[in-house]
Order: sequence, then C-alpha cells, then structure tokens
Amino acid sequence: MTRIPITMCHGLSEDRGPADFPLTAEHFETLVAIASEMGFASIDYDDLDAWRNDNGLLPDRPIMFDFDHPEKSMRHGVHQILQQHGHSGNLFINTNWFDPESPRHDHTMTWDEVHELVDLGWHIGAHTVTHPNLSELTADDPDGSKLAWELETCDATLNRELGIVPKDFAFTGTSWSSEAER
Ligand SMILES: [Zn+2]
Repeated sequence: MTRIPITMCHGLSEDRGPADFPLTAEHFETLVAIASEMGFASIDYDDLDAWRNDNGLLPDRPIMFDFDHPEKSMRHGVHQILQQHGHSGNLFINTNWFDPESPRHDHTMTWDEVHELVDLGWHIGAHTVTHPNLSELTADDPDGSKLAWELETCDATLNRELGIVPKDFAFTGTSWSSEAER
C-alpha cells in the first residue's frame, strides 16, 4: 500500500506566543531536512490525480507540502526552504485577503508574488473567498446560494488573476460539509 504523508501549515511566524504554535523558519527548515534525509520527494495534486487514474508514477517516497492562505512568507521564506531541498508546495488561496480593506492585507502576497510561486512550480487550489465555517454556512444557507458564491467567486478570481481554473479545494479550518463536497 502506498501511504502519502501530507503536511499542512499556514506559513512562517516568529512573533506569536508558544500557545499559537509559531513555525519559525529555523524549525521548518529542520522538518523539511528530515523529510529529505528520509528520501521523501514532494508531489502536487496533479501528480496524485494522474497516479490515481493509472496515468502517472509517483516517486518512491511521495510527500505533499500543503499550505493554506496567501501569506507573504510563502513566497519569502517557505519557498526558499522547500527549494533548497528540491521540493515545492500546494497553496490553497482564500481570495479576500487581497482586498486592500482586509485586516490581513499587509501580510498577503501580491498577485505577482503568487505568479512567481506558480512559475517556480507551486500548485494552486481554492479555499473560498471569506473563509467561512462551511458546516455553519450550509446550515444557514438552505438553498446553497452563499456556498455557491464562495466557491464560484474564489474560482473566478483565481482564473482572472492567475489564469488557473482550480481543480483542487481545501476545506476551511476543521469544518466539513457534505453539501460543499457535493
Ligand atoms: Zn484556511
């Protein structure tokens, strides 16, 4: 049986207390180096899809480095550490951080920086617009129109800004919604 570890994190941080589990560049580098020493090679969701459809091979020890949110440190820090070890990441983008009114805007990549990651081999997936809890949203939204807006608007923005029609999607937080999946 092939088993593929998937790591997920939210970028690098130096400035939060231990209760928030900060991921420093030094610690991330240590973890990526361990994976490399163990012979892991990163894959993306296209590689996974091809393999599942008997249309492609995986490396002997595949690993997926997944990241949520278009945080600045993805381009300036995370990428450099992965690249030193020959890896790249899968990034799931919630699009409202790019809004200049967003409280996260100062910590958000520019679209040019996201383009650079794509050119450097990163894989992009969708992660809604406003990052709602999808189970709660579905309960509040019996006809599905808010959910459809979140999914379709995110996809349309990624297509407009990056020319990418995302095939892959990350649920928000630890929420789950069978309706969203459907
Ligand atoms: Zn998220």
